[in-house]
Amino acid sequence: MTSTPPIGATVPGYPRIGPGRELKRALESYWSGASGRDELDAAARAERERTWRRLSALGLDSVPSNTFSLYDQVLDAVVLTGAVPPRFASLGLDALGTYFAMARGTGGVAPLELTKWFDTNYHYLVPEIGPATRFHLDATKPVHEYREALALGVETRPVLPGPTSLLLLSKPVDGAPDGFRPIDRLDDLLAVYALLLTTLAAEGVAWVQLDEPAYVADRTPDELDALRRAYERLGGLTERPAILVSSYFGSLGDALPVLASSPVEAIGLDLVAGSLPPEDVPGLAAKTVVAGVVDGRNVWRTDLDAALATLRAVEARAAAVAVGTSCSLLHVPYDLDAEAALDPQLRSWLAFADQKVAEVVTLAAALRGEDRSAAFEEARAALADRAAAPRVVDDGVRARLAGLTPGDARRGPYAERAAAQRERLGLPPLPTTTIGSFPQTGDIRRIRAAFRAGRLDRAEYTARMRAEIERVIRLQEKLGLDVLVHGEPERNDMVQYFAEHLHGFVTTEHGWVQSYGSRCVRPPILYGDVSRPAPITVEWATYAQSLTDRPVKGMLTGPVTILAWSFVRDDQPLGDTARQVALAIRDETVDLEAAGVGIVQVDEPALRELLPLRSRDQAEYLDWSVSAFRLATSGVADATQVHTHLCYSEFGDVVAAIDGLDADVTSIEAARSRMEIVADVAASGFGRGIGPGVYDIHSPRVPGADEVEALLRRALDAIPADRLWVNPDCGLKTRTYEQVEPALAALVEAAWRVR
Ligand code: GLN
Ligand code: ZN
Repeated sequence: MTSTPPIGATVPGYPRIGPGRELKRALESYWSGASGRDELDAAARAERERTWRRLSALGLDSVPSNTFSLYDQVLDAVVLTGAVPPRFASLGLDALGTYFAMARGTGGVAPLELTKWFDTNYHYLVPEIGPATRFHLDATKPVHEYREALALGVETRPVLPGPTSLLLLSKPVDGAPDGFRPIDRLDDLLAVYALLLTTLAAEGVAWVQLDEPAYVADRTPDELDALRRAYERLGGLTERPAILVSSYFGSLGDALPVLASSPVEAIGLDLVAGSLPPEDVPGLAAKTVVAGVVDGRNVWRTDLDAALATLRAVEARAAAVAVGTSCSLLHVPYDLDAEAALDPQLRSWLAFADQKVAEVVTLAAALRGEDRSAAFEEARAALADRAAAPRVVDDGVRARLAGLTPGDARRGPYAERAAAQRERLGLPPLPTTTIGSFPQTGDIRRIRAAFRAGRLDRAEYTARMRAEIERVIRLQEKLGLDVLVHGEPERNDMVQYFAEHLHGFVTTEHGWVQSYGSRCVRPPILYGDVSRPAPITVEWATYAQSLTDRPVKGMLTGPVTILAWSFVRDDQPLGDTARQVALAIRDETVDLEAAGVGIVQVDEPALRELLPLRSRDQAEYLDWSVSAFRLATSGVADATQVHTHLCYSEFGDVVAAIDGLDADVTSIEAARSRMEIVADVAASGFGRGIGPGVYDIHSPRVPGADEVEALLRRALDAIPADRLWVNPDCGLKTRTYEQVEPALAALVEAAWRVR
């Protein structure tokens, strides 16, 4: 490495689904057979080219490559390292067929498991590593993309998962010996990475970026040692590009001195979620630090003065400073300029991916001493405008929060509530219910779209929705369910729906963000104090209740989930924002109760997702998130039954928090793990109603009554009959009626048999 160019201004990654979701459409069309390989390749190439041209035009000094993916960057690394599990390799498919089989499964072969990417709403595919996994290098993709960019005149920096994080994000293959950990295979994997670096050097690659985000979470001394070994080995190669080890979503903590004393050239730090490194980190003074001072995960315009001050502080600690975003821009929409309908004042406070890239470029220039005073002045003015904007502050909301007392987040003793609810509801043992949504047919989507577009007036829309609700109620009565739901046909999305009806939020037109594969979400933007101008769900819930003698559950989304799936304001603690949202939801629960609804479910599927990565931060989070839920649900009488739904099965991690929610009934995912979770529930001493899901709604498979009965009997080993509920794992909206009807019939039949 004779003369390595400085990194200057860069980003660790960029969105890839296409500004108009072109890649999503190309993928879905390819999967459905409507188009062929050539069309898919062309769409993928167009998105890559667009990205490289755009990033160079915006002025980045170092443009990343290999940040594109047809599905997921971790899945790409499975291919890169040859770690394709035998069940896929043996299908005899071509490379692309094997790739999509791992992502989506095929004819009876289960896909890789999909899991949350750290504390984001992106999901990655979990590699399966065993003692017998045979690693070998397949550098086709990064090499191809590097050449492709070079042919356009753009010299790029290939981005790849780092070897240690890749193994720490993996799980052991089924049947691996007890105690085997994927990280045990580090040395074998390093041989592949060494060959990769040599290959890239031979291509002429000057810089490579290896991502090691796993080290912003707590790590054992063993795992820190793995990091040291990895970068001593890779850094010690004679033929290799300069190495940037990138981290994001927090501080590296003890991993920073490990990297700083290894022979890598640069370290990427998240200075938004994480903090400035200490002044005396041994070895850091010899490294380039890529300082992530522009928030890569949120949509607010950067305080350029503050960011520049941070960059100067980093300058004092390192050999050189480059400027970057705190993490890949994968987590924000492409371009604010696409939001034609957005209110101009709000727009002036925001920055999407392209605006963030421009901020990075501005900061790098200012750091070099160039005059960027106009851009700084504009940022200052926007920030001042936002800080003083009347629309951000609602004195009524502030006064209400200030007047809260601990009693507002507390209900009566559970035993008394349970007695009052038994009396009011008169449910049988092992009551049957669902999680809320029923299949969202094309018809329902069309009605909603027509109403939005103004092609259907409100009266007609209401009539159509009511017809759908009536159909769903009659179906549930026919199936013999005990606690009914209205089916949620009016909701596009469980968070966006509420955001559209609350003050303090705006929604975007094109602000799509990849969630996994071709799936995208459009998070609302929470910019100001939150309040509920009028009841939201009451008309639908009361209509549903008017149709039947059986209890109908009112369905709401909880405050933590609303925050987790929105872009939230960064000008006050998250806990304060959560309490405001909680009050709005509380108003809705109180109105539902007053309208005669006896059961209210407040869903919190994202409670686990926001759990901080470092254990020392977790208690504080659980404290405010649990209190927000309690504030949202403690306004109702003892006789009103509060349910909650959590979407995951890692009960153990947050068991104290689940108990702390104090819900009368908690439903939770369990079918895929065959009720393993109930042992944890019993062991924890959890003493309220619990509904471990008996039907895996993530799969098109329809369970039979015998199977559900067996699951229920297993659950009864650990949970007393008077606290066990019978329900699916999650909402039914992604399933079809052909699947849902027989599955629910089996569920009801099994409950009868066990009763
Ligand atoms: N009530 C919601 C539904 O049934 C819950 C969805 C979720 O848990 N993600 O769709
Ligand atoms: Zn769920």
